[in-house]
Amino acid sequence: MSAQLPCLLDGKALAQKIQSELKTKVTQLESKMGRPPGLAVLMVGDNPASAVYVRNKERACQKVGIASMGRRFPGDTTQEELEQVITELNQDERVDGILVQLPLPSHLNSIALLHCIHPDKDADGLHQVNLGKLVRSEPGLRSCTPAGIMRLLQEYNIALSGKKAVVVGRSILVGKPVALMLLEKNATVTIAHSRTQDLGAVCREADILVAAVGQPEMITREMVKPGVVVIDVGINRVENSQGKSKLVGDVAFDEVVEVASYITPVPGGIGPMTVAMLLSNTLQSYSSKDIHKQN
Ligand code: NAP
Repeated sequence: MSAQLPCLLDGKALAQKIQSELKTKVTQLESKMGRPPGLAVLMVGDNPASAVYVRNKERACQKVGIASMGRRFPGDTTQEELEQVITELNQDERVDGILVQLPLPSHLNSIALLHCIHPDKDADGLHQVNLGKLVRSEPGLRSCTPAGIMRLLQEYNIALSGKKAVVVGRSILVGKPVALMLLEKNATVTIAHSRTQDLGAVCREADILVAAVGQPEMITREMVKPGVVVIDVGINRVENSQGKSKLVGDVAFDEVVEVASYITPVPGGIGPMTVAMLLSNTLQSYSSKDIHKQN
């Protein structure tokens, strides 16, 4: 993809391209494997945002030929019941990927559930084994949102080596793993968070700025330097002046787009890339079984 400044990093278009490549791979492998790849997305309760994300994931599975084995559970499902389901899915040969949709109701221990998933079926890349492999730069399943960010930067040939990257947010889902991935590509990485002093000054140092905060439009024009590459991970639902709800990121897009060299839109940036990486991880687990079959 070529770019004219300022350029939108079009995650939606790239995700579609990746999905069509994955579809071709599924078609090639399916006859050899005797079954399609399978992904089980587990959702507990009725969080409306999670329901939308789960539906999008299931639709994307359908498009590429992955069997979607999603399960919905009532909000009062116990830890033991869910652990039992995950144990069964770990043993089910038709299942290549398992994902627990977060957040979970507060009575559940999400970390313990994520660790029940077999690391080879950890489609979301959040198991301690896969996070440990990331820390050591070993191959493994990578968490989807950070992997999607890196894939988008790669698609647009954005140089990382020697560049200053600032990641705002230190969650295990986004901030920490993307910081490690940027480091792996030889960026000089700073992680900022809610206790960071003079966040504006820290962000203005960035050649590449990743905002994963969950605060609508908090990164403003004054907080970035001209030419910055901006990755906006935030998905925040806000009301506009007419009382209608709309999605915005963590970056004040309309003003930052004036000075950035590249920027992701919300929606249409990192969201679709996250789904594409989930499918890609599922395919990675599926095709590794083909390699085992050959050996
Ligand atoms: P999270 O777990 O709530 O983490 C937010 C991070 O932001 C924390 O590290 C927090 O610092 C930091 N933070 C909060 N307020 C801050 C402030 N005023 N200044 C500086 N740092 C601040 O959130 P998350 O799971 O990483 O998600 C972040 C955003 O990305 C959310 O909007 C979420 O919906 C979105 N998201 C999008 C995708 C996608 O597919 N596009 C995927 C995942 C998440 P402390 O650690 O000090 O509290």
